[in-house]
Amino acid sequence: MNRRLFLRSGLLTAGALTLAKQELIANLFQQPAWKIQMLTENIGVFTERGGTILFNFTADGIVVVDSQFPDQSNHLIEELKKRNQGFALLVNTHHHGDHTAGNISYKGLVKHVLAHENSLVNQKAAAAAQKSEDKQLYPDRTYRETWCEDIGGERMCLYYFGAGHTNGDSVVHFEDSNIAHMGDLCFNRRHPFVDRSAGANMKNWITVLEKTKKKLDKKTRYVFGHSAEGYQILGTHEDLTKFGEYLNGVLDFTDKEIKAGKTKEEFIKTTTLPFKTEWSGDGLARPLTAAWDELTAPK
Ligand SMILES: [Zn+2]
Ligand SMILES: [Zn+2]
Repeated sequence: MNRRLFLRSGLLTAGALTLAKQELIANLFQQPAWKIQMLTENIGVFTERGGTILFNFTADGIVVVDSQFPDQSNHLIEELKKRNQGFALLVNTHHHGDHTAGNISYKGLVKHVLAHENSLVNQKAAAAAQKSEDKQLYPDRTYRETWCEDIGGERMCLYYFGAGHTNGDSVVHFEDSNIAHMGDLCFNRRHPFVDRSAGANMKNWITVLEKTKKKLDKKTRYVFGHSAEGYQILGTHEDLTKFGEYLNGVLDFTDKEIKAGKTKEEFIKTTTLPFKTEWSGDGLARPLTAAWDELTAPK
């Protein structure tokens, strides 16, 4: 562990040297905003700006899941290179810019980029709309339902359970370590983005969470793309259950309000949900708008 990591990882005990403390305070001014947390000897998560990145040092090279933005990926690459290993694979959980914009930093470094086939379609469409095609590194490998491969002694699987946050979200499972990256399929205690322009579906999102729990097991450790202030980007089955209940609650509430004759304009101004939930804070209009549009869409 390098010194900087050591200082930031909070391992300094109460009795640590005063000198180290002084140095720590001095370092606050120049410390990068990013953070690395190791979950096992080989698997860790990187957070700075955008969706959580997971990396896995395998015997066949480093596997990285998601890439935030170019600067953030460069920060991570700089750290990972210290292990003197090449990059085997970059995976995108879905196409959103806070998960794929940093792909470009891996150009010439990584052998393959992998994502669900709809994620590739969505990434191309978004890049064309934003005229940012030259800033993309697209997946050269895609799959439709399930993708599994042994990489450096660990079996890794991607599952597609249908539309949720978009229509191209993968659950990325490292079987031996039993760690799964959920991308944006779970917003931990934070109101989610629901990208209907990319085929999102809240009703099916609940099914996706159920299928995930069925496929994996109670011991699985989950990594989430985003969490609310004060909540972890790591969690368990229980967190998926809670998020499913929240989505279900939002859909139920919306359905009742539509039937009660509320207008959409009135409805999306709602500031508190009428059921018990730990999801609060900013951004409630996002799922409310999406739920309204989904439930009123022509069948
Ligand atoms: Zn995201
Ligand atoms: Zn997203």
